[in-house]
Amino acid sequence: MTAPVALITGASSGIGRETALQLAAKGWRLALTARREDRLQELAAAIQAAGGPAPLILPGDIAQPGAAAARVEKTAAHFGRLDVLINNAGILRMSNFLQMPLSEMRDVFETNFWATVETVRAAVPILERQGGGRVVQIGSGVSRRGLPFMGAYSASKFALLGLTESLRVELAAKGISFSLVLPGGTDTEMPANVDRSRLPPGYPHREGYRVSAARAARTVVKAVERGGAEYFVPWWVRPAAWVSALWPRFADFLVKKGYKTI
Ligand code: NDP
Repeated sequence: MTAPVALITGASSGIGRETALQLAAKGWRLALTARREDRLQELAAAIQAAGGPAPLILPGDIAQPGAAAARVEKTAAHFGRLDVLINNAGILRMSNFLQMPLSEMRDVFETNFWATVETVRAAVPILERQGGGRVVQIGSGVSRRGLPFMGAYSASKFALLGLTESLRVELAAKGISFSLVLPGGTDTEMPANVDRSRLPPGYPHREGYRVSAARAARTVVKAVERGGAEYFVPWWVRPAAWVSALWPRFADFLVKKGYKTI
């Protein structure tokens, strides 16, 4: 049996990089995208040094119109098939709502939401022709509960949740499963690179609550292998989402308590 093929967006660091290493160790053939080509080359070399199959490197900015779809098509053309699309690339911008320029909010949506719409639109006909496949979307705990100073980011992740729920049912008959992975704080470049000067003094960054990128990636791999609806990491993000859905005011109270230092 030939090894299955996955395209991972945002593979140059963090959860995407760890997912690539874990899938390659299981024999998956991979296409890897991100803007930093040197990081992708380094990752490809690490995969091959560990005995994995040579990945296809597709550097570039997926927020540019047409770029995300082109990467899906190149993956299918190179390997002759595509089994799983992992929409992981994302950016986080944080600041007081009124201080964030609208253009920056739109940039967040271009990468976190619209590029995903593009990859899914390109992948669905390919997966359908093959008789099915999987799409794994990397949402966030804030796909279910918005947090202060993360308005645009939370909204982009809510949008991803809505798209995923909708397509999960709409495309089930075509044999295409849609999974959403909802990580809480994860120790990657994303939170490390947040511009803290845009946040109020005393903002609680909570480094101690973050899971490792490798742990989040193990959850992504589970979604790839099983195709279930939702995967929370760590586990307590799920009950936190339930509390917010059932008692939004109580959830506000808890969030306010958590931010009492600001
Ligand atoms: P990283 O910053 O480590 O990784 C983000 C990846 O996305 C990088 O490989 C980056 O590559 C890529 N990327 C960003 N913008 C673009 C673009 N325009 N074109 C192509 N690639 C792009 O963060 P994480 O690993 O933490 O994030 C992975 C996913 O997990 C994201 O969707 C994030 O929202 C989500 N998440 C993260 C959490 C956390 O606390 N870290 C919590 C919940 C969800 P490059 O810069 O080379 O282009």
